[in-house]
Amino acid sequence: MEKINIIIAGPRGRMGREAVNLVMNTNHFELAAVVDHKFDGMMLSDLEGYQAAVNVPIYTDIEKCLQAVEADVLIDLTTPEAGPHHAKTALLHSVRPVVGTTGFTKEQLLELEQLCQEKELGCIIAPNFAIGAVLMMKFSQMAAKYFPDVEIIEMHHDGKLDAPSGTAVKTAEMISAVREPKKQGHPNEKETLNGARGADYNGMHIHSVRLPGLIAHQQVMFGADGQTITIRHDSYNRASFMSGVKVAVETVMKQNVFVYGLENILE
Ligand code: NAP
Repeated sequence: MEKINIIIAGPRGRMGREAVNLVMNTNHFELAAVVDHKFDGMMLSDLEGYQAAVNVPIYTDIEKCLQAVEADVLIDLTTPEAGPHHAKTALLHSVRPVVGTTGFTKEQLLELEQLCQEKELGCIIAPNFAIGAVLMMKFSQMAAKYFPDVEIIEMHHDGKLDAPSGTAVKTAEMISAVREPKKQGHPNEKETLNGARGADYNGMHIHSVRLPGLIAHQQVMFGADGQTITIRHDSYNRASFMSGVKVAVETVMKQNVFVYGLENILE
């Protein structure tokens, strides 16, 4: 199999560290460089907790990194502020982005989609790389055809910056594609504490829980006369996301289109 040269943005983060391990432990993946917002000019192996084998340069400027390094794919696992800029700059340099960073706006996604079309390059953005989470979204979409009353409860660690989670928004989008818009709850309901009913997406409600100890969890609850169904997925560690990242890196090399959501590349 031909080697895929990879840049990782956010290599010191919880997801980024797992991605570094994935790339180092996959025969046909090669780590070319990393992008951080600290430690410019140092080698990743100079930092505490990294093996000598990860002797790749750290760049704080993605533009300089892409000029200096031959790469095929950028894996971005950073922040909602940095991620969109990284993905756009990568495409401008004909490098294919695989983005796990969440919190991109609709406008930012549209801009990246247009850039992919212009450059005829692949880009995969997945708010959740856990294959089990993709199945949870697909099963929820199936259930929503018969159970249009639904509440989404997403639960994450308290270090998460964006709310609701990208997975919750994606689930709501997938459910919206199969159900008529419907305002749920009592027509005259009134919140006596702001936010008690959660965020509103086409009439369905999304609730965000943030607690230390959690990783990434989501429960989709459907209710109908005399019955409920609950579909739930739990990620207990960040390694759970890496099989999806691996599939995305391999797939982005073969496709010249913009893809949003891992479910669109899983066979
Ligand atoms: P994290 O531990 O906070 O890692 C983010 C890393 O990015 C940190 O090392 C941070 O450095 C670094 N960073 C900040 N600004 C940067 C910049 N401009 N350039 C390069 N690096 C920068 O967060 P995480 O849990 O790994 O999550 C990262 C992203 O992935 C988040 O958006 C999260 O929601 C998302 N996520 C996605 C999935 C999925 O399956 N798609 C799963 C889990 C998480 P400092 O610590 O020095 O600020």
